[in-house]
Amino acid sequence: MTTCLRSYVCGEWVTGTGDKSPLYNPTTEAIVAETSTEGIDFSKALAFARDEGGPALRAMTFAERGEMLVKVAKAIHEYREELIDLAIQNGGNTRSDAKFDIDGATGTLSYYGKLGQKLGAEKVLNDGETIQLTRNPRWVGQHLYTPLRGAAIHINAFNFPAWGMMEKAACALLAGMPVVTKPATSTALVAYRMAEIAIESGLLPKGSFTFIGGNPGDMLDHVDWQDVIAFTGSSDTGLMIRSRENILKHNVRVNVEADSLNAAVLGPDLETEDETYDLFLREVSKDMTQKAGQKCTAIRRILVPEDMMDAVKEDLSRELSQAPVGNPAEKGVKIGPLATARQVKDACAGLERLKEVAKPVYGDGSRGELVGVEGDKGYFFAPVLLEASDARAPAIHDREIFGPVATLIPYSGKAEEAAEILGLGRGSLVSSVYSDKADFALTMTREVAPFLGRLHLASKKVAELSAGPGVVMPTLVHGGPGRAGGGEELGGERGLTFYMQRTAVQGYQPLLEKLK
Ligand code: NAP
Repeated sequence: MTTCLRSYVCGEWVTGTGDKSPLYNPTTEAIVAETSTEGIDFSKALAFARDEGGPALRAMTFAERGEMLVKVAKAIHEYREELIDLAIQNGGNTRSDAKFDIDGATGTLSYYGKLGQKLGAEKVLNDGETIQLTRNPRWVGQHLYTPLRGAAIHINAFNFPAWGMMEKAACALLAGMPVVTKPATSTALVAYRMAEIAIESGLLPKGSFTFIGGNPGDMLDHVDWQDVIAFTGSSDTGLMIRSRENILKHNVRVNVEADSLNAAVLGPDLETEDETYDLFLREVSKDMTQKAGQKCTAIRRILVPEDMMDAVKEDLSRELSQAPVGNPAEKGVKIGPLATARQVKDACAGLERLKEVAKPVYGDGSRGELVGVEGDKGYFFAPVLLEASDARAPAIHDREIFGPVATLIPYSGKAEEAAEILGLGRGSLVSSVYSDKADFALTMTREVAPFLGRLHLASKKVAELSAGPGVVMPTLVHGGPGRAGGGEELGGERGLTFYMQRTAVQGYQPLLEKLK
């Protein structure tokens, strides 16, 4: 029987009325679940979160909220195998891709849980020390963070249904704001089951976690000034959300994590025998193939010194040829299908445009030779590596192809030139520099940091420690300027402040000391 997703609103599970939207298995195109949110009163759902969940969370200390997150992570982890199976079915994930998403979710919940325990028996955060405002030490100021009184509305992308939902929830709940979360409909099955486990665990206070199993209806019309929205998805949807009249009118905080054409730069000092060159090959091919390239942090542009281009072409093509495409449930398959038929259509259209300025050196945009797949079913798209003739052609830098596609871009070997080309992406989540020369790495850092949310400096000194640029750590900020959305999430304690108001409190020094 097909699973029918429910939503959890006003403290109870509800099933939408009317026509249902299907969720597919992207390998077989079979329907695996269906959902509808019709009939939900979104105004009431938000009010319930604000009125019930908010006070309940604010009554708890950071340590108590932290303990709750650690326990929720453990409760979810017990169902890891079931969740992996659902991610294979509905996300087209290989087992390894599924673990990346699911363990990312529980890992981030645990991390924020432990951070809460460290913050201790407080309910608010001080930002820095008290500041003496005049010559008289009795008159001081203190910056103070308190949780906003609204609901934290989370809208997530299809590619990380588990991690995307829980990394946002961890920050909001620890900060003391109730969550109203919505996964992308196409891959919502894992998020639904994870939400079900979290809610049924009984660990989350009433109203603190609302789950919308699909279309958010008119919810955004009811967003008010103490609410916040954290969105991950395409730039177009992000723009549409942040430019809605009531959101502009009430100056609602909106955090957007959107498109990004992340780059990898091979330093001019590296030869094919170098350990750092091997690391470059490993990390670039992993980033292109993991989750079939449907990763916001995936490398899309590869800058290579002209004299190394032939070697890189050959070596990367060999790496890619060792990543079989096919049924993600089959052992040995490294690349599953894209998540939906629409994603394949978008990737094909993006590739056609890219081919006008770059020629394929590996793959051609076809399904490729598939392992364990019958006939022509499934949304498959095998990896494509291209080589650009013009390093500055806009098509290379302005359209993110959300699949296993990357372009090799020649440059002279000068850091300033590499930085200028990287900047044509107009804002990325992350980029990487592979070099054993400190001068090159430091010049690149100074030149490209304003264009990036995160910079991965890879060298032989850290080769065995590096998890690659694609791994988003809860300790470091995630987000990027410009095309990447202009947002910022995570980064330890920094991740809480989006959900809190910073107020400068000025007054009598002994009184303000009591705030600590
Ligand atoms: P999308 O089509 O923009 O959808 C993102 C989310 O927005 C989904 O939950 C979608 O819901 C929802 N949505 C769409 N229209 C809406 C509306 N009118 N009101 C409220 N919500 C609405 O993006 P996607 O295809 O899921 O994700 C792919 C994109 O996300 C890529 O471009 C990728 O770069 C980006 N991404 C960025 C990051 C990052 O961290 N920066 C991470 C992952 C992905 P429905 O599915 O129900 O329509």
